[in-house]
Amino acid sequence: MTNHVLSLRGVTKRFGGLVAVNAMNFDVAEHEVVGLLGPNGSGKSTTLNLISGALPLTAGNVSLWGSRISGLPAQTINRKGVSRTFQLVRLLPSMNVRDNVVVGAVFGHRRRWGHDANEHAEKLLERVGLGGKGDMSLGQLTYIDTKRVELARTLASDPKVLLLDEWLAGLNPTELQIGINLIKSLRDEGRTIILVEHVMDAIRSLCDRCVVMAAGTKIAEGTPTQVLSDKKVITAYLGD
Ligand code: ADP
Ligand code: MG
Repeated sequence: MTNHVLSLRGVTKRFGGLVAVNAMNFDVAEHEVVGLLGPNGSGKSTTLNLISGALPLTAGNVSLWGSRISGLPAQTINRKGVSRTFQLVRLLPSMNVRDNVVVGAVFGHRRRWGHDANEHAEKLLERVGLGGKGDMSLGQLTYIDTKRVELARTLASDPKVLLLDEWLAGLNPTELQIGINLIKSLRDEGRTIILVEHVMDAIRSLCDRCVVMAAGTKIAEGTPTQVLSDKKVITAYLGD
């Protein structure tokens, strides 16, 4: 038995000669918000891809509630309760807001959604603060609202574990506060969250714990205060 929702052990990814993720070990407890930090190119998005099954591991394993999930198809991992947003929003501009959520949702969940898909999508849109905007085209939305659509889509499978890849990036200060509160509300409803993030205010107010990567390797782990004052972390961010 384990009280860890997710465990990474020796998780490694090579792209040809490049070791993008190098023997990463960390655990995530239930209801925890863990920040995955590190400079650009340090392997954060790749780590999320390895957890979600979007990429196969070169070595190591990922477990969900103590059972190995690495090696399973991405769709299976998603059905088991792991869902992610992408660093770059991947919506379908020719479809309206509601259909973008429906399309994202039916991926692997058609049976559960059935003919109530539109209704279910409306509930998710309300959940993320987009109530009444289902018929709008994506082009009519503000930037934060496109982020909300993406979040609604990610929530469609009702994930226990939510992987957010720089979901707050590019928001202005007012939007940032809204975004932070939205993530807090997802945590408060019992979700476990891994957050790739650069925005320091967001890291400080959201993360219980942070794991910091540099060049594919974990260089620090601890509370936001601990890691943000760690010399190795400061050096990694500033470049040496
Ligand atoms: P981060 O999200 O921390 O900015 P990434 O995980 O995107 O970093 O990338 C880590 C390293 O792996 C980078 O050097 C990047 O160029 C490389 N990389 C990422 N994805 C691929 C891929 N599909 N093929 C080859 N190299 C990749
Ligand atoms: Mg990235």
